[in-house]
Amino acid sequence: MTARVASTEPTRQTVYTEAMEVFHRAADLIGLDRRVRMELEEPDYEHIFYVTVKLHTRLSPLATSEQSRYKDLPDSELLPDGLEPLLDGSFVFKRRALINANVFMRDGVVRLKGKGLYKVVPGRPERFKAYRVQHNQARGPYKGGTRFHQDVSLDLFKVLAAEMTWKTAIADVPFGGGKGGIKVDPKTLSSEELEALTLRYMYRLKPLIGPNLDIPAPDVGTDGTIMGLLLRQFTDGERERHSLRGVVTGKDTRIGGSEGRVRATGQGLAYCIQEWYADRGSVPAGSRFVLQGFGNVGSNAAEILASMGSKLLAVNDAGGTIFNPNGIDVPDLVSYVYDNPSNMRRTVAGYPKAQQISRNDLWDVDADILIPAALGGEITGPVAERIKVTLVAEGANGPTTPEGDRVLAKRGIELIPDIIGNAGGVTVSYYEWIQNKRMEHWSETEVNGRLEQAIKSNYRIIRDISRNTPRRTATHNSQRYCIGREVDMRTAAMVLALKRIEAHYQLEGFSQ
Ligand code: NAD
Repeated sequence: MTARVASTEPTRQTVYTEAMEVFHRAADLIGLDRRVRMELEEPDYEHIFYVTVKLHTRLSPLATSEQSRYKDLPDSELLPDGLEPLLDGSFVFKRRALINANVFMRDGVVRLKGKGLYKVVPGRPERFKAYRVQHNQARGPYKGGTRFHQDVSLDLFKVLAAEMTWKTAIADVPFGGGKGGIKVDPKTLSSEELEALTLRYMYRLKPLIGPNLDIPAPDVGTDGTIMGLLLRQFTDGERERHSLRGVVTGKDTRIGGSEGRVRATGQGLAYCIQEWYADRGSVPAGSRFVLQGFGNVGSNAAEILASMGSKLLAVNDAGGTIFNPNGIDVPDLVSYVYDNPSNMRRTVAGYPKAQQISRNDLWDVDADILIPAALGGEITGPVAERIKVTLVAEGANGPTTPEGDRVLAKRGIELIPDIIGNAGGVTVSYYEWIQNKRMEHWSETEVNGRLEQAIKSNYRIIRDISRNTPRRTATHNSQRYCIGREVDMRTAAMVLALKRIEAHYQLEGFSQ
């Protein structure tokens, strides 16, 4: 590899420097302009700020060691409507719980009928760390998701924001890259607390974003409901608030969201897989796949692939892992996970029509396709050594480590890299943004038609770069992008991104 030319800092290995390896590899290969490289090596802005919210009073399970002291405490009867169960086992206490209540309390401890002993933890304000990284805007406004998760960090948001810069370029939508969120486990908050946190986050974020400046979207731990709250908080009191609808994407279709957006990331991944098979003169029907993550991306990709005739053999998520060698009925699993009020964690664990296996066993399942659609860094070197598939189709962001990549290449396992594999989401976000600007509403058929054409033509360009077969066909033109030698698919995707971004600097120049 050629020496890096633009870096002046000593390199400390972080998730960011690791994620930038492919950037440097592609930049070296195409001889990326030095100043452009410097512009892209670090984000334009890294915002860190804090949001505070008032947490309500909770009833938390009493430690086992203290329980013997309250053996004689009678049952208290509280109105169940006033107790909101949380996933950490506690209840958020609302005043209406006291309507017609019989309460027996000692030292702030109560016994809930049929549930056990609980300690009253008074409501208190809590501070959360929040982020928005704006990586690059050479091609258009910053664009990227909002993640609410306990394991986020500045470094992680830098990685994800940079990925958005590459992804928007690959999808050829007029955006740059951004990403942000809050360090919080949303499952430990009541719905009211989550709303208050979301509104406060936007209150702080408002000066930094806007429909022509930076446009958040859903990511892990956020959804269309959260986007609706962000929209309301941003537009509240604005004279021309309807013209600002495009400040967030991924909204409900009834308030300016696009048809097809919820399924778009899974749909885009399915189009890539379809194209991978088409290139081999085949179709996904009859293939078998395993999946990690059964959230928005994983469940939708699974439904669409199943409708194409592909068979789901195993799924792992945060709650457990299931396996059925005869195939899992995807719509039935979707209703087990999403239409079942007692399945509070929305997990595949416990699904009765499959075996429960250990998390690690997922990697041993013999199949054609592996779809990682959960968090990053899952396909490590040892995992890549183990898996028994022909194709890894990345739905998650950064699911394969650099070592994992090397092992996949060594074993001849093919790859659909994340930056094209999950670009369907941002592509339809762009359609949503245009519809908001034009005050239009397109049909799902129109959205999916455009998406299929966009994903498949960009996928073909990347494949041509990878094989060094410059071509101009009725659907795509890769002549400008091939580099005179073959490269792996991940590098090829980055080559396409960098060439498209570099063109902006070359043709528009630098602002001084
Ligand atoms: P989600 O929150 O809807 O679902 C996440 C899934 O991952 C859940 O099934 C959860 O149980 C599982 N999971 C979490 N931690 C896990 C662990 N440690 N082990 C196994 N499974 C685990 O999120 P999503 O929107 O489906 O996003 C999934 C991935 O796709 C993320 O990497 C995200 O950045 C990426 N992505 C999402 C979109 C989108 O439009 N939603 C677009 C591009 C990329």
